[in-house]
Amino acid sequence: MNFGSLAKEYGTPLYVYNFNYFKEQYEKLKNAFSGRKSLLAYAIKANSNLSVVKHFGELGSGADCVSIGEVRRALKAGIKPYKIIFSGVGKRDDEIKEAIESDILFINAESEGELKRIEAIAKELGKEARISLRVNPNIDAKTHPYISTGLSENKFGVSIDEAKKLYLYAHKSNNLNPVGIHFHIGSQLTKLEPILESSKIVADLVRNLAKINIDIKFFDVGGGLGVKYNNESTIEPYDYAQAILSTLSGLDVTIVCEPGRFLVANGGYFITKVLYEKKSDSKRFVIVDGGMNDLIRPSLYNAYHKIEVLGKERDAGSVVDVVGPVCESGDFLAKNIELPQTIHNDLLVVHSSGAYGFVMSSNYNTRARPAEVALIDDKPKLIRKRESFEDIIALEEEFIQE
Ligand SMILES: *Cc1c(COP(=O)(O)O)cnc(C)c1O
Repeated sequence: MNFGSLAKEYGTPLYVYNFNYFKEQYEKLKNAFSGRKSLLAYAIKANSNLSVVKHFGELGSGADCVSIGEVRRALKAGIKPYKIIFSGVGKRDDEIKEAIESDILFINAESEGELKRIEAIAKELGKEARISLRVNPNIDAKTHPYISTGLSENKFGVSIDEAKKLYLYAHKSNNLNPVGIHFHIGSQLTKLEPILESSKIVADLVRNLAKINIDIKFFDVGGGLGVKYNNESTIEPYDYAQAILSTLSGLDVTIVCEPGRFLVANGGYFITKVLYEKKSDSKRFVIVDGGMNDLIRPSLYNAYHKIEVLGKERDAGSVVDVVGPVCESGDFLAKNIELPQTIHNDLLVVHSSGAYGFVMSSNYNTRARPAEVALIDDKPKLIRKRESFEDIIALEEEFIQE
């Protein structure tokens, strides 16, 4: 990957995605479930560029969506409705309506209130909505609290007891068809135990439901498979799949898995240019042209991203904070890392930026969002233009006093 020539051609800050890597990750996980009916539904919130979604669609992937906008993206990218799932704690009426009309695989309901809204809307449409319930197994995923979702204190899903009651309700309804069950205990999971425990609990519920003739067809294990940002130990796809399969004996279900980060994080690079170096009494700063509005993970989660100076990867370094131009003390890409001396126009490569990177970017400080480039067999293709000032203000109206 020649980041130097990419930066020259497309400018900085810049996102670069290795599509061949995306494919490898997809196939690794898909193969881990081989021998069982399975659907990988790419969690498109991790990186929703249409070309990225289309790439996964062409590999056979479905899509896990958390807004009707994402459902539209998935459809536009060519993913078939029967491979699309709609999740999320707060779906609006119009979103539910459109999802039912689009005839997607199922809607993941996350509360009694939502289940009843889905029923009412399906009734108005004279349809039966396929649903699954997100159950909260009350398991500590042992990840960052902001991305932990499987504890009863989190806002997601319903308890096992409530789920049983709601499945009975849905089973009796003329406008609901409970086809699936879903859990997603958190993101960046690096321990197998919580997944195994959750899967056991949910599989038991499926067996109990079978006893009362509620036949669950889709066993949706969510996403969350962690990746290496630094030197964390991660879960192998094979072990992950085996753990889940070990809880499903006697059940004839299609396994649905919703990976986001696992598929894209380490295939993405954020390229930013050095503007200045600066020293205060106690600190050395490298000031770059990419900021928290472009890549917010360090500021938001204190996330670590490996950073290298292009062409100086092996040079000796000293401790530095890498900071952006945004007017916030929280605007940094790294704190207290070692980097060699840099000069104006050196390029920094920020690794593992393919997931929750561009999608979380904003126009804060009236900064145009970066361009995105795909590398396919090492050949670059622009998949999103750099924003212009005109793009940023396009929807604003000038206030004119009469
Ligand atoms: C965010 C999310 C995912 C994807 O999570 P990753 O950690 O990126 O794999 C999957 N399913 C649901 C319901 C989500 O909210």
